[in-house]
Amino acid sequence: MQITEIYKSLQGESTFAGLPCVFVRLTGCNLRCTWCDSEFSFYGGRKMTVEEVVAEVSNLQPSTGTRQLATGNSLVEITGGEPMLQEREVIPLMNCLLDEGYKVLLETSGERPLVKVPPAVIKIVDVKCPHSGEPDTFDLKNLAALQPHDELKFVLTDRTDYEFARDVVNQHDLAGRVNAILFSPAFRKEATGSRDTSHCLLDPKQLAEWIVADDLPARLSLQIHKLIWDPGTKGV
Ligand code: SF4
Repeated sequence: MQITEIYKSLQGESTFAGLPCVFVRLTGCNLRCTWCDSEFSFYGGRKMTVEEVVAEVSNLQPSTGTRQLATGNSLVEITGGEPMLQEREVIPLMNCLLDEGYKVLLETSGERPLVKVPPAVIKIVDVKCPHSGEPDTFDLKNLAALQPHDELKFVLTDRTDYEFARDVVNQHDLAGRVNAILFSPAFRKEATGSRDTSHCLLDPKQLAEWIVADDLPARLSLQIHKLIWDPGTKGV
């Protein structure tokens, strides 16, 4: 499979935020979100076998087996790009990592079918909102593939995006289907410098007020790696 990078950092934007995690970033994406912070993963990378990827993950963070899964010490996130574009290779990779005792997260847009993702993998599905530039790309058939441990994320730039996300959550009773609904303000592309929320395209305070006013079962989520390191830093 084609890999852009494998690195260790803190998980930044889910209910696993703040835990050590090894990231496996696959190359290539079929979407072009306006606020994408991973355009460097669209092309290039290196070809690796499943065994080579697992060996590199293990060098960065040996599996602790099932003993310490609760602490997240064996967390691996498969991300991109869009990992499911390489389904033929990435499914065996997920199975291998699970067999080694890792807790595996998959970050995906949900545009590709998710039905073949192993049930033990925790899917973090990034449903695209209108101002992402890629609206209506989430395949509703994937709702059937969601499991109670999965998470749904909506990256928001303004009120239009918020209302879209709110309505999708309510129409499909998403809070009853997954572990968490994440509402995350989009970060300005190529932001650098101050490590604070001034780079957010939607003020988190405003978003918080909307969530509270609507009594929505959504969790406000900030990309904490962009508040810890310079938001322009790669590989963190
Ligand atoms: S799906 Fe992800 S990687 Fe692809 S363009 Fe959108 S944000 Fe970037």
